[in-house]
Amino acid sequence: MDALDIISDLDNVIPFFQPIFSADEHRAIGYEILGRYNGKQGIQSLGPFFLDDEIPDEYRLEVDNTVLTKALELAVSLDKDVLLFINRDADMLMQDDGEQFLQLLLQYEEKGISLKRIVLEISELNYKGDMEHLDHLLNYYRTYGMKVAIDKVANENNQLDRIGQLAPDIIKVDLQALRSLGSSSGFQDVLYSLSLLARKIGATLLFENIEMVFQLQFAWKNGGRYYQGFFLAKPEDHFVERDILKERLKEEFHSFIVSEKKKLETLYKLTEDFQQQLQLMLTKYRKVTNNYDELLMALVTELKSIAFRVYICDEEGFQKTANYFYVNEQWEIQQDYINKNWSWRPYFLENIIKMRNEQKGILSDLYSDIETGETIRTFSYPVNSNDYIFIDLSYSFLYQQDGLL
Ligand code: CA
Repeated sequence: MDALDIISDLDNVIPFFQPIFSADEHRAIGYEILGRYNGKQGIQSLGPFFLDDEIPDEYRLEVDNTVLTKALELAVSLDKDVLLFINRDADMLMQDDGEQFLQLLLQYEEKGISLKRIVLEISELNYKGDMEHLDHLLNYYRTYGMKVAIDKVANENNQLDRIGQLAPDIIKVDLQALRSLGSSSGFQDVLYSLSLLARKIGATLLFENIEMVFQLQFAWKNGGRYYQGFFLAKPEDHFVERDILKERLKEEFHSFIVSEKKKLETLYKLTEDFQQQLQLMLTKYRKVTNNYDELLMALVTELKSIAFRVYICDEEGFQKTANYFYVNEQWEIQQDYINKNWSWRPYFLENIIKMRNEQKGILSDLYSDIETGETIRTFSYPVNSNDYIFIDLSYSFLYQQDGLL
């Protein structure tokens, strides 16, 4: 594709629109505007053209604005609540302090496209300028009601601080890296933290490049409200009907809900079983002794194939016993842990209060053990009104049980 061909043939520079669907309405809530060139070789993406540093900025800007103008012209007829996602490169945008872009949008505001419906997908990948200047511009745009989305998240390491700083309205997460369920659990953990951060700063998560059903399920499960990708709808030269997926999405989500509910029921039942077993054991051994060391000694013989670490803490998190740690097929007693404090660990005090008030055990989520690096869960349970027992369940045990991994 020759750059000159394109620049001298703006008539064939056209916008394409890829719909973005929402989890709460099961319909298209907006469209991302994409550039295409309808040349001798058929319709081609203008992506490479926009990314080509060899092409002078003013040409790229002209083509970019041609796409946008044609898109806005068509968008005038859309429902008044439809969002328009517009891609802009930070570097190009800053060349005239974003003035031309704003003027173009204001021109169409008069024709009925409120700036509140504009989502600026800002790409900062090549941006070498001053971040503060950029943020100043983005915040200025936001005073007009425009929304800001950070694009291509999760392709890049360490964007969390940037996201925290800008507090975008929308975070676009690229699911391309999530090709199979077996793909790195590291990626999934990053997405999990991203979903927590998004919730904290009030940003909406948009998952893009959804190409398979499990990616949609993953997006749904990880707090994604908006979805985009070939699995749902390809970009077209027109706005596809908003309700086109209403029935299909309803069915897909129904199956996600059913399978998730089943998983949660299983977890609930397993928690209840643990609770009962532990209660029986504690009653049995407490008849014999009140000494925690003797109690744990007796307990761990029964927990051999289930747990690899057992200890007791008080309600402030001070450890009152040694660690009973299963290694080389025997229980090792680690005295060093007595009097260590664990109140700083996430959810520790919350869980204590919950156990105390409900007099029930808690099965934790999956996490990596800091010492062994293994994926584990912890079952905690009130021993009496002051103290709580913590039982770290081994990976091999979780692996053998349905629904624990
Ligand atoms: Ca984009």
